[in-house]
Amino acid sequence: MLEGKIALVTGASRGIGKQIAITLAAKNAVVIVNYHGNKEKADDVVEEIKAAKGKAESYGCDVADDTAVKEMFQYIVKTYGTIDILVNNAGITCDGLMMKMTEKDFNTVIDTNLKGTFLCIKYASRFMLKQRRGSIINMSSIVGVTGNAGQMNYAASKAGIIGMTKSAAKELGSRGITVNAIAPGFIDTEMTEDLKEDLKEKMLQQIPLGRVGKTEDIASAVAFLASEEASYISGQVLGIDGGMGCY
Ligand code: NAP
Repeated sequence: MLEGKIALVTGASRGIGKQIAITLAAKNAVVIVNYHGNKEKADDVVEEIKAAKGKAESYGCDVADDTAVKEMFQYIVKTYGTIDILVNNAGITCDGLMMKMTEKDFNTVIDTNLKGTFLCIKYASRFMLKQRRGSIINMSSIVGVTGNAGQMNYAASKAGIIGMTKSAAKELGSRGITVNAIAPGFIDTEMTEDLKEDLKEKMLQQIPLGRVGKTEDIASAVAFLASEEASYISGQVLGIDGGMGCY
């Protein structure tokens, strides 16, 4: 259980982040449901958590905006006195073959996925260092390990998150803070629903367990990594991909 722990989940208005927020709240954490554009959906997540007798509130913030991220953590600590669990889940894609990828396509993805993760770790760890505890879980991707044609920006951001995770684990470990990454494979969310059917079928054939992942598959691992039972696990990358990566 995560009784009374204060958890921030970025990008929790839908998809994987939504399920992580619901799962952490079900384990009695107080959850801040971060969103960027979708306040209504984030508020729906909060309502769903409250209907199940959990505690949550929504907070809008672009994770790529330094000032806004700083203010978000100041708000959390002012309101709840602490931050115990940070899940850096917010992420976007802007796919295209390298020769056609614009500088803007590249920068937008790096800014949200990689810089956003850096900013949240930086501001959360200020408080976690003082209290000498904390769990940070970063959402990488199988693509950050294997690469993928048409996703040079996204793959670079997700590979960067792995380096960032290992570096942060080394910087923060002496104060009892764990930092780990999860590398999901093909998970059924809005991010993947637009993929062409033939591509989906091809990916499915590469998954030894023979099914697409569910958001619950990721959320249960996040809850474990945030728990006391995982307090000696740090600097790791956990592939959750039905055996697709096998790295
Ligand atoms: P999704 O359904 O597209 O949801 C993305 C979430 O990120 C939304 O809640 C969105 O908020 C939020 N977000 C986007 N830009 C943001 C910003 N600048 N600041 C704050 N929040 C922002 O994605 P998903 O499939 O659940 O993926 C979640 C994470 O898992 C991502 O990091 C993704 O790269 C990673 N992942 C997914 C898969 C997969 O197969 N789905 C595989 C590997 C890794 P708004 O709705 O409010 O804009």
